Amino acid sequence: MTGEIQKRFHARSIEDPDGFWREQAELIHWDKPFEQVLDYSRPPFARWFVGGKTNLCYNAVDRHLADRADQNAVVYISTETGLEKNYTFRELHAEVNRFADVLKKLGVGKGDRVIIYMPMIPEALFAMLACTRLGAIHSVVFGGFASHSLSTRIDDARPLVMVTADAGMRGGKSVCYKPLVDEACRLAKHPPQNVLIVDRGIDREMVRIPGRDKDYTELRDAVGEVTVPVVWLESTDPSYILYTSGTTGKPKGVQRDTGGHAVALAASMRHIFCGKPGEAMFTTSDIGWVVGHSYIVYAPLIQGMTTIMYEGLPTRPDAGIWWKIVAQHRVSVMFSSPTAIRVLKKQDPKYLAQHDLKSLRYLFLAGEPLDEPTARWISDGLGVPVVDNYWQTETGWPILSAMLGVEETPRKYGSPSFPVYGYNVQLLDESTGQKVAADQKGVLGIVPPLPPGCLTTVWGDDARFVSTYFSLLKDRKVYSSFDWGIRDQDGYYFILGRTDDVINVAGHRLGTREIEEAISGHHNIAEVAVVGVEDKLKGQVPIAFAVPKNASGLVDSAAYRAFEKEVMDTVDKSLGGIARPARVHFVTLLPKTRSGKLLRRSIQALAEGRDPGDLTTLDDATALEQIRAALQRSAD
Ligand code: AMP
Repeated sequence: MTGEIQKRFHARSIEDPDGFWREQAELIHWDKPFEQVLDYSRPPFARWFVGGKTNLCYNAVDRHLADRADQNAVVYISTETGLEKNYTFRELHAEVNRFADVLKKLGVGKGDRVIIYMPMIPEALFAMLACTRLGAIHSVVFGGFASHSLSTRIDDARPLVMVTADAGMRGGKSVCYKPLVDEACRLAKHPPQNVLIVDRGIDREMVRIPGRDKDYTELRDAVGEVTVPVVWLESTDPSYILYTSGTTGKPKGVQRDTGGHAVALAASMRHIFCGKPGEAMFTTSDIGWVVGHSYIVYAPLIQGMTTIMYEGLPTRPDAGIWWKIVAQHRVSVMFSSPTAIRVLKKQDPKYLAQHDLKSLRYLFLAGEPLDEPTARWISDGLGVPVVDNYWQTETGWPILSAMLGVEETPRKYGSPSFPVYGYNVQLLDESTGQKVAADQKGVLGIVPPLPPGCLTTVWGDDARFVSTYFSLLKDRKVYSSFDWGIRDQDGYYFILGRTDDVINVAGHRLGTREIEEAISGHHNIAEVAVVGVEDKLKGQVPIAFAVPKNASGLVDSAAYRAFEKEVMDTVDKSLGGIARPARVHFVTLLPKTRSGKLLRRSIQALAEGRDPGDLTTLDDATALEQIRAALQRSAD
């Protein structure tokens, strides 16, 4: 029967994790073999490959020099600047060593933190690999985040160095990074001692702060040829931090280990993504998001593949650019997001047929629910299987997916298929803690230990790791994904949305609390509620309902719109354009329970034209009427 092989593969990983992961661990290089596959003596903290020593940079770069030194490791294409550059594994090795030497001379060593706040340029990838070469812990912060977001990440990680660039480019417009970095350092209590700048020559007015700011190109050119010894790390040593939003205003630093991360990614390339050494992989994400972090940088390189690093939009110069890249570089595995495909779907379908795409074997999509029309459109257009996979920043690699390297199973639209090996997934009833039956909705939980590659803790906060992720049930520790799921009679899973106040905009997770805090920062806002509202293109967009302290100026619609824009700009400045609400509605009262809890779900239901649900606890019914009226006004 179809599905039996993958089922047995999965079952073995759960019943015999030692045997299963011992085999997978052979996919990477160990400087010193591990003594124990798993130490689970302190649940829910899992320590994988204890006693083993390895290094991510060595596995991604040095290891390939013997067999593929002249193969392209990185193909960089920027449709923003027109620059295209290839780096063989030999050249990548040289660049990473130079970067490591520069960092080392700035005092960076094992365990030190380095923030990488960069546009999509090769130096960002070199910086990541240079850090892991030195045993330093990198924290890549998405280049679209604004100074407040950056400063909270600075204070949490306390980096010795920040690596940045003068500017990024988007849609032909430059986005200056340096003023944001300066402002973030000003806001931070623990700013970095050194800011290393890759000057792309975009921001000609860039001001340097003497003593602190260093020019990367100058320092790199002074280095010449150099080999910086790899620092062998304990498998359990942290390799990086990547922040993600939750229900509080304070983002969580997802901490990843070294050996488990390398093994998990190497195994995923074989069993899930089916990319072979020597082939090319094109992941269209950004290195600041987990998909890009794992599948632009580490996974394809560990696998000895060429990775395509793309700076630009999917529609510029035209909507055929991605397919042109696939054809030109004979990409075999592509990884993107449903939102990006929905953007392309609005364009002329001729673009899908203009290039020879026979090298392409699979298109993987993740980050948000994949709707059937989008999946059909792209799989029919490309003539390749489209594989929906479900995961989170916390896990670093897929939780649910078809595993076509294990067994070719049929896919169902709207479903990321089955639990991936290593994940003991259970759909649970929140109140009874029991597993729900087929076709019943439950919270998607993972019975620990979490497999290799998943977060090992929250950076600097073990207690938060346990209290946030393992409090789903009272009587036992089960990891909560904070997603609702359902499993059909055939064992296929479907994700139904978040259980918490986190929204997903174009595949990016945003905490409504963070946006509310940014809006509350406006001097004329007393109170605010932000909800995620369904959007045809981006999946969800944030909408705000705010109570102004003084509404007397908002008499006409021009003043109203001007104030709305001002509030939106506050979010831009604090968090970045990605969090900018699509609308801000002004009201005098927000709907709350008698105990003062905001009824976000009722607001969201109204904004999506649904029934607001049980309102017995509502304190003042006129508040909901105001929400209704505001929505009505904007619809007129
Ligand atoms: P992030 O950590 O930013 O990647 O966001 C993870 C969240 O995105 C998950 O908890 C889900 O809510 C959502 N998500 C990711 N992949 C999928 C998918 N394939 N289908 C449905 N939702 C997804």
